[in-house]
Amino acid sequence: MKSTIAAISTGQAPGGIGIIRISGPDAVLIADKVFLSKYGKRLSDMRGYMATFGAIYNRFGEKIDDCVATVFLKPKSYTGENVVELSCHGGLFVTREVLRLVFEAGAEPANSGEFTKRAFLNGKIDLTEAEAVMGLISAKGKEAARIAKAAGEGRLSKRINAICFELESLLSHLSAWADFPDEDVDEVNRYDVKIILKRCQDLIIKLLEGYDHGRIFREGLRVVIVGKPNVGKSTLMNCLLGYERSIVTPYAGTTRDIVEDSVTIGGIPLILADTAGIRSTNDPIEEIGVAAARSKLVNAQLVFAVFDWSRELTNDDMDIINSIIDIPSIAIINKSDLDQMIDLDFLKEKFSNLIVLSARMETGIDNLENELQSLFSMKDFDPENGELFTDRQRFVVKKSLSALSEGISAINMGMTFDAITVCIEDSLGALYELTGRKVNEEIIDSVFKNFCVGK
Ligand code: GDP
Repeated sequence: MKSTIAAISTGQAPGGIGIIRISGPDAVLIADKVFLSKYGKRLSDMRGYMATFGAIYNRFGEKIDDCVATVFLKPKSYTGENVVELSCHGGLFVTREVLRLVFEAGAEPANSGEFTKRAFLNGKIDLTEAEAVMGLISAKGKEAARIAKAAGEGRLSKRINAICFELESLLSHLSAWADFPDEDVDEVNRYDVKIILKRCQDLIIKLLEGYDHGRIFREGLRVVIVGKPNVGKSTLMNCLLGYERSIVTPYAGTTRDIVEDSVTIGGIPLILADTAGIRSTNDPIEEIGVAAARSKLVNAQLVFAVFDWSRELTNDDMDIINSIIDIPSIAIINKSDLDQMIDLDFLKEKFSNLIVLSARMETGIDNLENELQSLFSMKDFDPENGELFTDRQRFVVKKSLSALSEGISAINMGMTFDAITVCIEDSLGALYELTGRKVNEEIIDSVFKNFCVGK
């Protein structure tokens, strides 16, 4: 028989209300041992979805706190089990003391995420919906919360199940045709199979694109500002942030550490990193900053490559251009308030995205906004569509995609339907892993280990 677990479900800080949640077969009996209703009503005599006012007492009959007890009877509860929630005052001592009494009365401490894990194991929610609970709790902004909320409402599962349905129908048709050749089963046409697989492939690619878009909302786009010293990187950073975050001096080589901050430009959240000017130097301290700037590029999702409109390009500029060749970049030609010396045509050949502005005069910044919007257009992205939002989800969807792509290649190469069937099964298996329809204990544990206790 399953144990009855308990934990403080509200934050571990003083607050107006603190909730101790108890879930399991003995939840109501245990709660009855510590709670006395003002009206003499026992919780075990109550129907589900009922609340009553009373108090928590210890075994010496000493009152610990006033309490509202809410009873949920299985299966109509968060976990699918009997659940009692004891809402007391939210002081740290009170909630811990009530929890201690609940343990004394027979409950066991809940592990991280165990309430949600039980909800999953009892079939109340699927794995993506369980992950959405954590996504919502840890969301730092509105859009990230909207993505998690949509998944929690089952919209991601709906998209995945639609793909599963297509693949399952295809598999059953393939097996009916192979297993009962004499029956009246429509002949399987390779071209039709390919069309279905391609349609599923497109849907899966859309899911992955949604993850990338959502990631920008959740974490911010990692933008690294590079350029040789004195081109105005720090001035640009400050201008974009709207306050003096980076030190601006007329002396080259003064930004040594990487300065990071977040800002939203054109509706796109950015994590800006202002780096030391990249140039060849004999100064060992400056060299450390230059090396840090180069290594920062490794994780950049976008580079602002800053050049000086009023100077000719130098070898240091060329070196920077070469080092960002594989990273999406916007060339920012700064100091447009001065006379032009730079070879703009050359830079236009090197960069497909290029804007001219003056960070000091704060002119031309709207061009940068427009450029960002066109590069990372969020117009077609609806966070409430049901998007992937965890690395695990992305990983299994990629697995599903590669199996599907193998299936399409198998058709193209004229391989047997048996071989194609294996690919479809693999692809489907990965999608089942995504929603938790078929998933092993290890994966379940890894999903819930990141939850907080009490959720
Ligand atoms: P960094 O070394 O690339 O970070 O460059 P800074 O931001 O420290 O700027 C170097 C110098 O260029 C400072 O004196 C700035 O005031 C100046 N500067 C930056 N942006 C502009 C600009 O748009 N126009 C002009 N005229 N000067 C600028």
